[in-house]
Amino acid sequence: MHREKLIMVCTCEIAGRVRGKGFPARDLPSRMKKGVGWVPTNTMISAFSPIYATPFGTGGDLILVPDPAAEAQVDFGDGSADEHFFMGDIRELDGQPWACCPRDFARRALAALQDAAGVRLLSAFEHEFSYTGVTDRPGSPYSLDAFRRQGSFAEAFIAALRAAGCEPDSFMAEFGARQFEFTTDPALGLAAADRAVIAREMARATAHRMGERAIFAPILDPAGVGNGVHIHFSFIDAAGKPVLHDGGAADGLSETGRHFVAGILHHLPALCAVTAPSAVSYIRLRPNRWAPTHANLMSQDRAAALRICPLLPGPDVARQFNVEYRVADGAASPYLALGAMVWAGVDGVRRKLVVPTEGLPLPASLGAALDALEATSQATDWFGATYLSAYLMHKRGELASLAGLTEAEQCARYAETY
Ligand code: GLU
Ligand code: MG
Repeated sequence: MHREKLIMVCTCEIAGRVRGKGFPARDLPSRMKKGVGWVPTNTMISAFSPIYATPFGTGGDLILVPDPAAEAQVDFGDGSADEHFFMGDIRELDGQPWACCPRDFARRALAALQDAAGVRLLSAFEHEFSYTGVTDRPGSPYSLDAFRRQGSFAEAFIAALRAAGCEPDSFMAEFGARQFEFTTDPALGLAAADRAVIAREMARATAHRMGERAIFAPILDPAGVGNGVHIHFSFIDAAGKPVLHDGGAADGLSETGRHFVAGILHHLPALCAVTAPSAVSYIRLRPNRWAPTHANLMSQDRAAALRICPLLPGPDVARQFNVEYRVADGAASPYLALGAMVWAGVDGVRRKLVVPTEGLPLPASLGAALDALEATSQATDWFGATYLSAYLMHKRGELASLAGLTEAEQCARYAETY
């Protein structure tokens, strides 16, 4: 059969799903300018499909415009259609950023960081997921056996990551049932979030071609361990010098870095609503799951919300030094997760906040986290009033839709989606 190549332009909005529209590849030059049509209410499409409530009604027109810096094009070499898409910006028809554009939210946060501290954020996302192409066997955590039994998935996936410009770093069998993990190299600013979105889609795309699924839901079994998304970050200054580290400080953090970290800890209950944004995210965030339960900073401890990572032997200590944000999961749009984390850190830098001696417990439910977000006066500046109220409405609708379901049933619903 004759075939004609298609390209999609996509966004990753409140539900953390990648959605967009396609067009013939030959029209790319004109689509780069005019984008595709989009509507405000699309941001209210829930993880489960229905729009439970919307402040936007059925009206309004927007455009979703591809960003040439955020392109993925991968030929899997199996005769299937190429994965060819761009991540894009949601704009008003006059080209201005739309108030609820997730990439613009992250972009504004990164600009505020530059403004407040004169630094740029370098970050790398570490993703855990469940792969349906293996059975769970006792003794599997980190095992060569589990690594082997995923067959050629990992090799095809790593090739896809590289072809998509995602610079793979590692792949492994994780602790949980059928659980695997991968990391990509760090990227500057917004590119790190683009890379996180694209990398997860490459895992899904590879699994799909094998008749399987890569599931990034926060937790699949209430009695098991969760799938976390860990964001490793550091700062570089205008000259490209790493400036999160201070070798003379006991914790290794520069002064600006410590204020940034303090801002994140200060706002962590509210951040949970954005970075751990599903009902089942709070099953993951319970003790004995190697996941955080308190708003704390610890060195080399995987139960911490913020972990100061170890330095490996080698010369470039300052360049290696990074802090890991462990309170995110795969239900969050990487743009919103990165942006919210940075906004909170910027507030710490601006107000010279200090790291608390004791970490308070994290919210125990999405409802409590949403209340904390609503009660955070700064959140209106970060999001803007329209975006913040849309976010709260979206997530409260999602939560209400799960009323009466057991934890296992809720996990199953999210596993269908993510
Ligand atoms: N699966 C754990 C989580 O939910 C993390 C395990 C690890 O330290 O990599 O965050
Ligand atoms: Mg892990």
